[in-house]
Amino acid sequence: MAVIVYGTHVFTKLTGYFGQREECPFCHRVYKKGYVRNSVWAHLEYIPLFPVKKTYFKMCPVCGRGVELKNKEAKAEMISAGEGERQEFEAYARHILAKKPKGIMSTDSSYEFWIKDMVSGEEILVASDITKDTVKRIKKSRGYKKVPIIDV
Ligand SMILES: [Zn+2]
Repeated sequence: MAVIVYGTHVFTKLTGYFGQREECPFCHRVYKKGYVRNSVWAHLEYIPLFPVKKTYFKMCPVCGRGVELKNKEAKAEMISAGEGERQEFEAYARHILAKKPKGIMSTDSSYEFWIKDMVSGEEILVASDITKDTVKRIKKSRGYKKVPIIDV
């Protein structure tokens, strides 16, 4: 008998930054909040069938802390808040020990996650001493399309 794989998959997408700049209570950076859409899709044999649920995560673009919002709430906020002034980031990861011989460490946690403020040019360290999997997890949680890894 063939095994049919059924399950759900979460797709994330950064919708944009909305509202006024405000200080984050955790990292104290002053930015507009990012709205990341999480769409849960049912899949059969890894082929997406239909959306099950949509929520948003409204987060600080630097430290990633924030709150989950229902689809309707988030849409209403985004419309009323407006986009305001330009805010844009580029994300990248640095792999510190890329050139070291393999096999020294069991787990390579020499990655760093950075974002660059494309308006001011400031580069901000988001997380350090992390693994490649953590880089992927941060990328996904923030709905970024791509995060290049730079070997140092
Ligand atoms: Zn923050």
